Amino acid sequence: MTTHSSSQTCSAVVGLQWGDEGKGKAVDILAAQHDAVVRYNGGANAGHSVVVKGERFSLHLIPSGILYPGKLAVIGNGVVVDPWKLVEEVEGLKKRGVDTSGLVCSDRAHAVLPYHKTEDALREDLLKRNAAALAVDERGVSEIGTTRRGIGPAYADKAQRACAIRMGDLLRPEVLREKLDVAVAMKGPALTGLARTLGVNAEELNRDALIQQCTEVGQKLAPLIKETTHLLHAQLGAGKKILFEGANGSLLDVDHGTYPYVTGSTCISSGIGPGTGVPTTRVGRILGIMKAYSTRVGGGPFPTELKDAIGDGIRNRGREFGTTTGRPRRVGWLDLVAVKYAAMINGATGLCLTMLDVLAGVEEIKVCTAYRINGAETTQFPPDAYDLQRVTPVYTTLKGFAQDITKARRLADLPAEARRYIDFIEQSVGVKADMVGVGPDREQTLTS
Ligand code: GDP
Repeated sequence: MTTHSSSQTCSAVVGLQWGDEGKGKAVDILAAQHDAVVRYNGGANAGHSVVVKGERFSLHLIPSGILYPGKLAVIGNGVVVDPWKLVEEVEGLKKRGVDTSGLVCSDRAHAVLPYHKTEDALREDLLKRNAAALAVDERGVSEIGTTRRGIGPAYADKAQRACAIRMGDLLRPEVLREKLDVAVAMKGPALTGLARTLGVNAEELNRDALIQQCTEVGQKLAPLIKETTHLLHAQLGAGKKILFEGANGSLLDVDHGTYPYVTGSTCISSGIGPGTGVPTTRVGRILGIMKAYSTRVGGGPFPTELKDAIGDGIRNRGREFGTTTGRPRRVGWLDLVAVKYAAMINGATGLCLTMLDVLAGVEEIKVCTAYRINGAETTQFPPDAYDLQRVTPVYTTLKGFAQDITKARRLADLPAEARRYIDFIEQSVGVKADMVGVGPDREQTLTS
């Protein structure tokens, strides 16, 4: 493990693939050594699952650190928040006896409104229809495969500014009224136009109903909505340790991912600065989470995708069905070209390899170590979807292991083939594995 200067008291957990790497469990484990856990990007499209003493918790907006009593859990300004989902999540946790008193949501986080979800769905339907009509899949015109939770449209409004609503606005009736006036004027015609193109009905936006809904939800959330940048700096000033929890995955990053099949936010570690107001230079440890294989949800290129019985076996053993949507995830061999790129753009100081147990019984494990493109071999990852669609993976085959490894508690308990797999990954990526997951529970994590 890397040593850090005393000003670098923060850590980050980031996904090195297309999301769903098992970040929730890593955050849950690291939260024990930190005072605050902070989300900096994404919205309710993320879905972390954490298993504590056999009990499974699925969190979408609230940082997984909430499962430790007494920790500060912050939804940073870089997150887009569906306020109704947040109320639902808080109430769900309270019902299960979880103490949510440490939860704070930035007043500058942007709100996802019902019309953002409508827009998301209509846009996706339009892309799907066009792709079917044009029979093209790789030119960036096919369905992006979003979760239809309104994340992209909310981020787009944030950049457009004119009718964006921030969480703090939910508490200012006069501002809310004015903003919703503009939103209805701008969004209404756009939505009915999209719906008309698709030949479907779109409900007219009702300004008064929106004002009422937003005011009501604002009242419920009022105790949580606060200024968070100074709050976090006060924590740092008091010598507290902060853990930043990345949502989605590096290959879904809006700039560095497989554009346009990406999400609307900065998922990589450099999103911490804009998404929280804490300089990224304060982060000394960046733990990159990666599965022992690859998965992807939604559209977009996936060079190592498996569409056979091996892929089906991995999907079933790894329970590869979305936490947010329940959709079966696409499954493939580990792509080290992609992971190495992700580790590089995040500045990963350590790896957390998850789901190694899922590969038990796979006789020969293939790992992609290079791409062939236009007749030449490369180890550089081409993130643009058009380019990535055209690569052929070059594989190295490693011997698999047959044994169940879910009871292993030390790296030495693993069969030699599993250890060799870990060594191979460390050497290829050039970063050491700090943690190895052999099952969903906290205890099923081996540390080096
Ligand atoms: P996240 O979005 O990155 O937090 O990932 P998800 O929560 O969507 O997916 C991770 C899933 O894998 C959850 O159901 C975890 O309980 C589970 N999980 C995490 N680590 C391991 C592991 O090492 N082995 C197995 N079998 N399951 C794991």
